[in-house]
Amino acid sequence: TNRFQYFTFLFIVVIVGNGAVGKSSMIQRFCKGTYTRDYKKTIGVDFLEREIEVDGEDVRLMLWDTAGQEEFDAITAAYYRGAHACVLAYSATDRDSFDAIPSWKLKVENECGEIPTVLVQNKMDLVDQCVIDPDEAERLGRALGCKLLRTSVKEDVGVMSVFRHLASRCLHEM
Ligand code: GDP
Repeated sequence: TNRFQYFTFLFIVVIVGNGAVGKSSMIQRFCKGTYTRDYKKTIGVDFLEREIEVDGEDVRLMLWDTAGQEEFDAITAAYYRGAHACVLAYSATDRDSFDAIPSWKLKVENECGEIPTVLVQNKMDLVDQCVIDPDEAERLGRALGCKLLRTSVKEDVGVMSVFRHLASRCLHEM
């Protein structure tokens, strides 16, 4: 008899960064295909997932949304712990969120060690409000050893690339 086995790879992705950079929106966009300007978060931790095909493999990505609990290290650290990949997110319109990226990288590294990580500049649709110099963003990416990608979760630009990139790296670095 023929016996077939099918595998789905499963990776957990954490999205970290300051409040209001668009982390929850990115998870909703990727997992549900929706975007809401005034998306009401429930305090607590939400868990969403989506399966995609990457490099000929079925990959299920599971995402923790540690909604609005950025300041509570004790809570969030527990969710970083099992992660296979990380999105470091900041907003093009928020200088503080950009400056905070190295410390977010450290927090994740402390719990997970070196995992595939991508630096994401969100809200690229707000061109006229952008406060981040493109060269500076590239430099930060190089300094942290992360690829820099730009997204507009609102306009659905670049979001899929973020997760495809991470899934592919997870597959190849297993
Ligand atoms: P979080 O606190 O990092 O999870 O951020 P949210 O997902 O709650 O987003 C904060 C606000 O930014 C919300 O009003 C979102 O609708 C808005 N937002 C998220 N992504 C984008 C984007 O790409 N462009 C614009 N213009 N607004 C965005």
